[in-house]
Amino acid sequence: MVASASDLTKIYGDAKDHDSQVVALDHVNVDFLRGQMTAIMGPSGSGKSTLMHCMAGLDRPTSGTVVVEGLEVSAMNQRQLTKLRREQIGFIFQSFNLVPTLSAEENILLPLQIAKRPIDRDWFDKVVEVTGLRSRLGHRPSQLSGGQQQRVACARAIMARPSVIFADEPTGNLDSHSSREVLGFLKDSVRDYGQTIVMVTHDPRAASYADRVLVLADGRITRDLRNPSYDEILAVFADEGEEDAESEERAA
Ligand code: ADP
Ligand code: MG
Repeated sequence: MVASASDLTKIYGDAKDHDSQVVALDHVNVDFLRGQMTAIMGPSGSGKSTLMHCMAGLDRPTSGTVVVEGLEVSAMNQRQLTKLRREQIGFIFQSFNLVPTLSAEENILLPLQIAKRPIDRDWFDKVVEVTGLRSRLGHRPSQLSGGQQQRVACARAIMARPSVIFADEPTGNLDSHSSREVLGFLKDSVRDYGQTIVMVTHDPRAASYADRVLVLADGRITRDLRNPSYDEILAVFADEGEEDAESEERAA
């Protein structure tokens, strides 16, 4: 197991003002296995990003524990969190989050430089090869397509050989062609390097790349599917649509 959450609860808002509170995660228990790609699906507001942020040490749980590589993330101070994020965790955002004034190569290497870690040139070459960025290394983000920018973000995430990559809707801003490129790269990194990936997505096609699909609703895990086909993933959401319609009928 690379990462896990036990009884993970996150409540936003003012503890003294009950009406302002939102339960984003409600006693979530989950293990993420090494060398697997897990997709997390669920409606908007169901807690997907909050789960990613708590797992990656970008946000603090209200209660419960998060463990990554045997280290208790939820008990760490800021300095320990920074170290953890540098050494163990890669994060890919929907909006790429590249530094606009730096070239693709500089963006890919920046986290290692900030951490004063050595750069493994062989690994860099391999990462550049598999992301297909060789001819784009000198370009700044504004000179790249969305798909190319996200591949730079993927290369940056994997360059540090993190224990786990958390990706929050990595294809949310991409067309279907670019999405396939990015998903293909993520999938290859699982197969070829044993990379562990947890990816939030709205797209059943993207989720069908995963070894496992979790569904969140109202801050709880409601489904846990192993190696589901595209049709099985679609069926989950078709069912839930019907349940919604039925409960609306009953309410009416
Ligand atoms: P998802 O990524 O599934 O769309 P989020 O994890 O972003 O969901 O949000 C879960 C719930 O927590 C939502 O109701 C959202 O409005 C709320 N929420 C998220 N972030 C904050 C925040 N910083 N402050 C207050 N409420 C938040
Ligand atoms: Mg989100």
